[in-house]
Amino acid sequence: MKTTVSLPELRAARAQLPEPVGLVPTMGYLHAGHLSLVQAALSECASVVASIFVNPTQFGPKEDLSTYPRNLPRDLALLEGAGVDLVWAPTPEVMYPGGYQTWVTVEAITLPLEGSLRPGHFRGVTTVVAKLFNAVQPQKAYFGQKDAQQAAVIRRMTRDLDFPIDIVVYPIVREPDGLAMSSRNVYLDAKERQAALVLSHALRAAQEAYETGERNAPALRSIMEKTIQAEPLARLQYVSCANPDTLLELAAEFNGPALLSMAVFIGKTRLIDNCVLAKGR
Ligand code: AMP
Repeated sequence: MKTTVSLPELRAARAQLPEPVGLVPTMGYLHAGHLSLVQAALSECASVVASIFVNPTQFGPKEDLSTYPRNLPRDLALLEGAGVDLVWAPTPEVMYPGGYQTWVTVEAITLPLEGSLRPGHFRGVTTVVAKLFNAVQPQKAYFGQKDAQQAAVIRRMTRDLDFPIDIVVYPIVREPDGLAMSSRNVYLDAKERQAALVLSHALRAAQEAYETGERNAPALRSIMEKTIQAEPLARLQYVSCANPDTLLELAAEFNGPALLSMAVFIGKTRLIDNCVLAKGR
């Protein structure tokens, strides 16, 4: 496995790789969720490039950029063990050299949900992903359903800017007790770790109601809200039952697929989770 930092190094190494090339963009501190994307890329592509970059432009001024967990040696060992061909771990100065002033902005689909609570977040995400796409020029790029709105925004950007890249989205990988894997889970103490199960429990409760015939979006949102409010360590930021394509809230009775999603603070740690309700029954 080759590890690169600068753009010329990355380009030279990329030019040697057999195609199709799969790209797995990450912010590092890797867990089994990231590795599931690497596995998928390895099985579908001739070469796999992983990027590790804690992208400063997608963090708000009061967010956790400075404390975001990092462990590059461990990440490199995991990627090498998995069989990745090339890693790009640029510095912020490589990505955003002095004088940098160009941004990629996707409009309507970035406004609700995460976008409404994290102003500027998706502008940072789409800008860095566009730069990764230009630098690595993969044929396929792999993203997790964990960040459902991010995946939808990247799909939109890829179509709108005509990147010749197939966007592939893989399911959420969970701990055995249901907690969605996240690099931020390391912030949780033992009590908070237990309390964090409230996210998957709330989704499960709404899903069960859906499976027994509930098709009223406000009723499903209320089931999730009540489950979260019953946990003293949890502070709800939003719950949503939305159209999976537009991410706009569904009103009253719906008929067709829905994305249930939420953001919840457990102590100082902000966690997100979601599930898709497919059409049927
Ligand atoms: P991050 O390092 O958090 O930016 O995540 C890098 C990629 O891994 C993104 O496409 C995420 O959606 C994906 N990812 C993060 N957590 C999970 C998970 N638990 N299951 C599947 N994919 C995930």
